[in-house]
Amino acid sequence: SDRNPNQPEFLQAVHEVAEAIIPFMEDHPKYKNHKLLERMVEPERVIMFRVTWIDDEGQIQVNRGYRIQMNSAIGPYKGGLRFHPSVNLSILKFLAFEQVFKNSLTTLPMGGGKGGADFDPKGKSDNEVMRFCQSFMTELYRHIGNNTDVPAGDIGVGGREVGYLFGQYKRIQNEFTGILTGKGQSYGGSLIRPEATGYGNVYFTKNMLETQGTTLEGKTLLISGSGNVAQYSAEKAIELGAKILTMSDSGGYIYDNNGIDREKLDFIMNLKNVKRGRIEEYIEKYPSAKYEEGKTPWHENGDIAMPCATQNELLEDDAQALVDNGCMLVGEGANMPCTPEAIEIFHKNKILFSPGKASNAGGVATSGLEMSQNSMRYNWTAEEVDAKLKHIMNDIHEACVTYGKEEDGYVDYVKGANIAGFVKVADAMIAQGAV
Ligand code: NDP
Repeated sequence: SDRNPNQPEFLQAVHEVAEAIIPFMEDHPKYKNHKLLERMVEPERVIMFRVTWIDDEGQIQVNRGYRIQMNSAIGPYKGGLRFHPSVNLSILKFLAFEQVFKNSLTTLPMGGGKGGADFDPKGKSDNEVMRFCQSFMTELYRHIGNNTDVPAGDIGVGGREVGYLFGQYKRIQNEFTGILTGKGQSYGGSLIRPEATGYGNVYFTKNMLETQGTTLEGKTLLISGSGNVAQYSAEKAIELGAKILTMSDSGGYIYDNNGIDREKLDFIMNLKNVKRGRIEEYIEKYPSAKYEEGKTPWHENGDIAMPCATQNELLEDDAQALVDNGCMLVGEGANMPCTPEAIEIFHKNKILFSPGKASNAGGVATSGLEMSQNSMRYNWTAEEVDAKLKHIMNDIHEACVTYGKEEDGYVDYVKGANIAGFVKVADAMIAQGAV
């Protein structure tokens, strides 16, 4: 922590991994004496840059842009871009560090990276977002490449932003290449990529439930967030027979005792993706639901909790409330949404718990499939991509069980994911020498 002062999120992410990896390395001599962890916590490269753009009033605005190129042992850097006012070095380093293990878990050849800016797309016009993206890419383009570093979306970066970023890259480089993933269908995007993180999250939950001889049919779900991951987690869970009770945004959460069904989810998708409105508008349309301002949904009753908004959104007392209310499974759709204290409560109570680096890896896995399709200049059908996604989520689940199963049969998915993700990266680093 002396080397990384004021980086609490980064230290939190490293601590969680170190807890699993250090004992594993001690038990496996081949991983000793290579300074693996010391090297993994040091980004290969950190790029920070000024992003200047002109707003609709003609005023100059200044933001800070970043790209963390964390680890390229097993492939080009890969990881999303986040546009949110809270973005700083600590948050992006935590995300980049997590990404290294997650990408390794997918079994695809992708290193880890992350980037973004402290730009807030909320309340900005399309033109302002476009000018920001163009300015951001005017610096970033020189650091990325389809064999070097391939960014994607994350919080605040969806299809619209990826389109503007891609357009500017192509203009500067005079090259049409798979430089970003999450692209639109008309210019190289993969089918199922928008859905992939949420769908993968639900496939993973389904796998976890199967270990207990049960399914999603008839289960009640508490979901937080109402962005990309939350929407498609809800969509797939509804399809598999679950009842969605809650969704949220940074203003608060809505609770619908009748369940958020397909039609209501369409309303939310239109509200969030097209109108860019607030989740509280749901109760104007469906007055029998309630809106709880400034709160998260974790004190409600539900069989399964899926935090799909942001880091550290599910705290110790939330975890205790979930346990007390009979929740049986917590599947992280977001990155690091549960605090270490919350996770400890889940483990102590033998609640099934999957860390984001395992359960939300379907997004980056499908980004990897988008890269393959771009290289081949060929498109797989939605069914083909979905089948590959399912297959990858099954493999990740199996890897977690292999490395995380305890003597009493309980699976510690955190330990399993960290060790399984570590092994491939560590083997590659050892083979490539002291670089
Ligand atoms: P979106 O921008 O589409 O949605 C984010 C959602 O979370 C919104 O509902 C937003 O509410 C809410 N939110 C964001 N920040 C906060 C905050 N500080 N407090 C409370 N609520 C907040 O992002 P995604 O759905 O893409 O990402 C959600 C999570 O999933 C992130 O942790 C991301 O890293 C992770 N993830 C995403 C992947 C992807 O493919 N998109 C892949 C793997 C992980 P509001 O609208 O009010 O801001």
